[in-house]
Amino acid sequence: MLKIENLVVSYNSIEAIKGITLEVNEGKIVSLIGANGAGKSTTLKSIVGLVKPQRGSITYQGKDLLSTPTKDMVKHGITLVPEGRRVFANLTVLENLKIGAYSRKDEKEVQKDLEWVYELFPKLKERSWQQAGTLSGGEQQMLAVGRGLMSRPKLLMMDEPSLGLAPLIVKEIFHIIKEIHKQGVTILLIEQNANAALKISDEAYVLETGLISMKGKGKELLENSDIIKAYLGET
Ligand code: ATP
Repeated sequence: MLKIENLVVSYNSIEAIKGITLEVNEGKIVSLIGANGAGKSTTLKSIVGLVKPQRGSITYQGKDLLSTPTKDMVKHGITLVPEGRRVFANLTVLENLKIGAYSRKDEKEVQKDLEWVYELFPKLKERSWQQAGTLSGGEQQMLAVGRGLMSRPKLLMMDEPSLGLAPLIVKEIFHIIKEIHKQGVTILLIEQNANAALKISDEAYVLETGLISMKGKGKELLENSDIIKAYLGET
């Protein structure tokens, strides 16, 4: 579905991504794990056209994404839930969710998806009239994911959805990611929480200073001693 080949991205003269190749097959949960500054966010930004790679190719269902404008990504079914749960603080929960569906004209279907999001996140339903800026961190993350779902993505990409959240909320978020996946959405997950990400992933890639150092099935990597030493030691 999504193919990245020999991708190189530099900021000024510094190479943040040094030639990575990865693939996300339809219907899978794929995660990209790695430490701070490994280049995870840069990879996601390259996919949606927010940074321009120096070399390599990115294709989605055979289509060249590097020449696709960022604003057209949603139309092709690609949605990014950015890091830091950027919700519109002064708007209500419901208004935030509706913004996620801004490009859609199929009102009835939008309403159905709103009900789907409320089913996945009952708290958002309870708080639909609350200003998003007054939600807790976990609720804001749920709203950011919910807003992403309102565009009815085929490929949902999430940048560190568990960052800064309490363990119970992290558990809830990962449970919901699995639910979203069960309903047919392909997922590319960027995470520092390797343990939680690998547990739910079909495939996973480890990114280290701009290079893929390892790849495999999520469960295999969970048992890999190098991964345990580097990423799972404290969990
Ligand atoms: P984190 O988990 O901390 O967000 P990351 O794996 O997502 O890390 P990136 O944000 O992709 O990493 O950063 C990769 C490298 O590129 C880092 O060394 C970072 O300092 C650098 N970098 C990122 N954005 C820019 C920018 N706009 N200008 C210059 N350098 C940048």
